Amino acid sequence: MNDKGFPALCSANLHADPIHVKHADLTRSSDDSRYRSECPVCGDGTLRVYRDPETLELLALDRCILCGQRVIYDDIEDLKRGELGETKGEGIKT
Ligand SMILES: [Zn+2]
Repeated sequence: MNDKGFPALCSANLHADPIHVKHADLTRSSDDSRYRSECPVCGDGTLRVYRDPETLELLALDRCILCGQRVIYDDIEDLKRGELGETKGEGIKT
């Protein structure tokens, strides 16, 4: 019971240990962003991929905005490379 519109599981995993995931394996939660993913733990939350505020580098550590689960992207280096290459569309050409 809550009247703020948050599901009961909100922040349920706030103190859980971080899990390792591959960003490429996650489901994108929005067509507008190449980075936003559905949370693999709660399914309703979003992983947004954070950047270093100074260098704007993509950070490996992320947190679900809903359940608070922390994830570590094992393929963050691929993500950074993809950003540098700026290949629009799916797939990587070699
Ligand atoms: Zn979540």
